[in-house]
Amino acid sequence: MQIMPRIYLSAPDISPQDHASVDAVLTSNWVAPIGPALDAFEAAVAARAGRSHAVALHSGTAALHLALQILGIGGGDAVVCPTLTFAASANPICYLGAEPVFVDSESRTWNMDPEKLEAALQSRRDIKAVIVVHLYGQCAEMTRILELCEAYGVPLIEDAAEALGASYHGRPAGSMGAFSFFSFNGNKIITTSGGGMLLGDEAVQIERARYLATQAREPVTHYEHKAIGYNYRMSNLLAGLGNSQLADLDRRVATRRAHFEAYKSALSDLTGVRFMPIADPDGANYWLTCFTLNPAEHPITRDVLLVALENVDIEARPLWKPLHLQPVFKNKACFGGELAADLFERGICLPSGSGMSGDERQRVIDAIRAVFRRGTGNA
Ligand SMILES: *Cc1c(COP(=O)(O)O)cnc(C)c1O
Repeated sequence: MQIMPRIYLSAPDISPQDHASVDAVLTSNWVAPIGPALDAFEAAVAARAGRSHAVALHSGTAALHLALQILGIGGGDAVVCPTLTFAASANPICYLGAEPVFVDSESRTWNMDPEKLEAALQSRRDIKAVIVVHLYGQCAEMTRILELCEAYGVPLIEDAAEALGASYHGRPAGSMGAFSFFSFNGNKIITTSGGGMLLGDEAVQIERARYLATQAREPVTHYEHKAIGYNYRMSNLLAGLGNSQLADLDRRVATRRAHFEAYKSALSDLTGVRFMPIADPDGANYWLTCFTLNPAEHPITRDVLLVALENVDIEARPLWKPLHLQPVFKNKACFGGELAADLFERGICLPSGSGMSGDERQRVIDAIRAVFRRGTGNA
């Protein structure tokens, strides 16, 4: 039997240009967290996201931590976060001693439900910030969410970790909140191995973030400190990788979109299978292709399908497990939560990397069709 290489959910996609770009930085000897590649990467991501200011960091999580701190979030405050997201969207709330308040998804984009957000803002006067997530590279219903944040005078942070290159009614993901951030973790649409960026339009706020991220070091030679800082800056070497990856972003979005469209046309006829609704086909970046199964219509469940795919070396995953169902957040408030819980029970993310070939994608399609044909996960 022929051994097939494993197909990953979203593997890093590294090109000869990336090798050349990193090599050029190594040759320049600018390998510390300062240098021309870093400046260029910040400027290029800010331009792409329609922002005036940006600071490159170790991770998206670090970016959210700094955004919340600069907004003055602390003990006694509450911060809204969607429940259907990765834990990193909420953890920094807790770093600062504040309370997360979770909000359910809506069915049109699977993102934060504006009606539930309104209910939260109405009933909780301690809410001091809102984090919105653009899940799987599709923007949330920003018109309504921005209106609500404005009406209640609460700043909005866009968790655009998965959404670089996406847009909402022509506005880039990451251009809409008081702050926004991207992640360049290994599985994201572009990667710096690990990394993130915080963006905003107020120079003083982004400079404050840069200062806190650099151990809160005062601009004097003798290491003067007036605040507690962090070591959160991105290395110039990794920014070199970021620059070549970013130059390739449009191809990456197009390739992931082609994966989505091919999966959808090849699998939509399977009983109970429904692809993630895409409100604006030209606005999403198609980071991951996701669909739901429906056990009321067909006996194949999420776990049966995931195990069957794993058995042929295909890495698929459930959707994010809602945060209100996580043991660590079990006592936290959640407005709604049933829709997110249902999506989690029935949803699957398929291999979607921009380095995945058409043949590999066909292997995934054939494997899923085979499971439905047999009507069981057993080969
Ligand atoms: C990846 C991710 C993050 C965290 O980014 P890191 O760079 O891994 O810290 C935050 N939120 C969402 C929705 C993510 O997918």
